[in-house]
Amino acid sequence: MYTTVPGPTEQSSPIRMWAEPESVEPQALEQLRNVAALPWTHGVAVMPDVHRGIGATVGSVIAMKGAVSPAAVGVDIGCGMSAVKTSLVADQLPDDLSKLRTRIEQAVPVGRGVHHKDVRLEAVQEPGAKKPLRGWHEFWQGFDELERTVTRGKRGRVSEQMGTLGGGNHFLEVNLDAQGGVWLMLHSGSRGIGNQLAAHHIEVARTLPQNQDLPDPDLAVFLADTPQMAAYRRDLFWAQEYARRNRAVMLWLFAEVLRKEFPKVTFDKAISCHHNYVAEETYDGVEVLVTRKGAIRAGGGDLGIIPGSMGTGSYIVRGLGNAAAFNSASHGAGRLMSRNQARKQFTVEDLKKQTKGVECRKDPGVVDEIPGAYKDIRSVMARQTDLVEIVAELKQVVCVKG
Ligand code: 5GP
Ligand code: MN
Ligand code: MN
Repeated sequence: MYTTVPGPTEQSSPIRMWAEPESVEPQALEQLRNVAALPWTHGVAVMPDVHRGIGATVGSVIAMKGAVSPAAVGVDIGCGMSAVKTSLVADQLPDDLSKLRTRIEQAVPVGRGVHHKDVRLEAVQEPGAKKPLRGWHEFWQGFDELERTVTRGKRGRVSEQMGTLGGGNHFLEVNLDAQGGVWLMLHSGSRGIGNQLAAHHIEVARTLPQNQDLPDPDLAVFLADTPQMAAYRRDLFWAQEYARRNRAVMLWLFAEVLRKEFPKVTFDKAISCHHNYVAEETYDGVEVLVTRKGAIRAGGGDLGIIPGSMGTGSYIVRGLGNAAAFNSASHGAGRLMSRNQARKQFTVEDLKKQTKGVECRKDPGVVDEIPGAYKDIRSVMARQTDLVEIVAELKQVVCVKG
């Protein structure tokens, strides 16, 4: 259940909070109040993994009437998760998982700025799908209509980044469910092109007249029926589609790794959910642009993925369709501290302890991703039982970080 926190003025929309209000950092609370006070805001829902972001908090949902804030959406447009259940069980996996990890690293380019040159996109078939992924031609036609200053001459590079993980906390994992079933899971978004498009529109928004007296320049908005809004929407929805396809290509490459080892392996239908994106939705007859910034859609029956950390479990969930939360749920456990703070507080030894039993990197480069730098995923799940029900509880045995 939620607590309602009043906005800063009488005209502000209410802030519905699925986090304990006392546990929310003061800077995050300030960001929530700023958003609630914007004249275009129709409602704000705060997820239990909430923490400070740029302009708006991560782990929140903003519904606006006739407006959208590009900085609130953020630079990794369409970032999200994909997962698929395989027919394999734990006993079939080799005792030494390091070889499997190496094969995954060889099959899917990981890290910033890495490219592919050899994937034939027309052949990509998402695991569990009956037909290859279609619509590539229309998709690339869409690319040619994007913001010219950002994309001129870049199509080659953008297509080479399709099917690549990126850096940071993007990851690929092999997980086991409570029955020993093997799942593949991954986290990524719209790579360099999403970032460039977002950065461009964020700059444009700052110059517009309606954004000159905002409490935070990162809350600048585009308004309905303006050319700037039309351009942003075109680029935003294209980047969201890029992210969806990017994850589909990687899940296919990942599944191919298993197919080589286990020719008879089969896959259930894949699950894919964005957790940084915009959707047009209607609540009580009001049409709104819903920004899920570190939140997933959890409409009645929607399947979603809520990851924990590189050493704690993750969850496959089914949405309960709670309109008070604009049909949403948390996108993860959420950070407990900044990356800098984590590097100060934890050592490689701590990382080794907290990722015991996981075949993953255990070097200084990933100490800022240590499970202790994230909130406790179990407590986060316990706070959203009116938003989602748990379908499967997963625990990783292999984790490849970007
Ligand atoms: P974000 O999209 O905000 O960067 O991260 C999403 C969520 O993924 C985080 O809030 C955290 O709970 C979770 N997470 C981060 N790293 C890992 C990982 O290596 N494995 C899993 N399963 N979850 C992770
Ligand atoms: Mn991302
Ligand atoms: Mn993400």
